[in-house]
Amino acid sequence: MNSGKTMLKISRCLYFMLLCFLFFFTMPLAEAAKASTETRAAFPAVLMYHDIKTRPLNNFDVTREDFCAQLDWLKQKGYRTLSMEEFIDGMSKQSFPKKRVLITFDDGYEGIYLLAAPELRKRNMHATFFIFPKAIDTALKGYPYVTLKELKELAADPLFSIGSHTMSHPYLTQISPQEKKKEISDSKAYLEKLTGKPVTALAYPYGDYDASVIAVLKEAGYKAGFAVNDRGTANEPARYSIPRIYMGMVLGENRQKLFKQYVREYKKMPEEAFAERFGDIF
Ligand SMILES: [Zn+2]
Repeated sequence: MNSGKTMLKISRCLYFMLLCFLFFFTMPLAEAAKASTETRAAFPAVLMYHDIKTRPLNNFDVTREDFCAQLDWLKQKGYRTLSMEEFIDGMSKQSFPKKRVLITFDDGYEGIYLLAAPELRKRNMHATFFIFPKAIDTALKGYPYVTLKELKELAADPLFSIGSHTMSHPYLTQISPQEKKKEISDSKAYLEKLTGKPVTALAYPYGDYDASVIAVLKEAGYKAGFAVNDRGTANEPARYSIPRIYMGMVLGENRQKLFKQYVREYKKMPEEAFAERFGDIF
């Protein structure tokens, strides 16, 4: 009887020790995993488009035909698209389901409304449009931007997310701290008022950013910052220097083949290989 009680005490004691062991040794491991998971290798592939056109005028245009082929390939291969909210949620939880992609468009050309949005809707696919308010209702030569009415319509569609591309598309590292703050905060406030939804992501114009730009971004309440490739600072949190796969004519004759390869290899690519693989875009 006594020895039975002693055995019970010993086993309880051992059990307690085991719990302590698990607690003290796995907590730091969990913390380490938490810290190390937020790397670009954990993120799904992010595609960066600019304009979709019937006939391309510039290197960053993608024809409607190519765009459709790319969307169809993603679908056939079982990829699912994420909304910006889902992408940020995944970064915060440090976990993404397999085979996810984030489709983004910079600048807010009218092609996103006229050609991209209808094709995305047909396939029930999400996309994020990074807009700089100064461009709304204006046009460059051959490049009309979305109108206010069109942008409101896009923003109202649950398939689409609106992100900031600053107010006036400056090189963010080249302007004063006050201007930086204005470009980053004012665009957020403007787009939130326009869409009635939180704006939590920003794409750096020209992919130009550094630690000081990221600090302003964080202070303004952004949860994610999108680069062009891996230009900029490598020592900042991955969520503020997210590289993107450039979708455009730079991919040359084999762009469909390269597109597939890039989507598949995005996670495996070491940081230093990114610039080399995607090239100097501008
Ligand atoms: Zn831009």
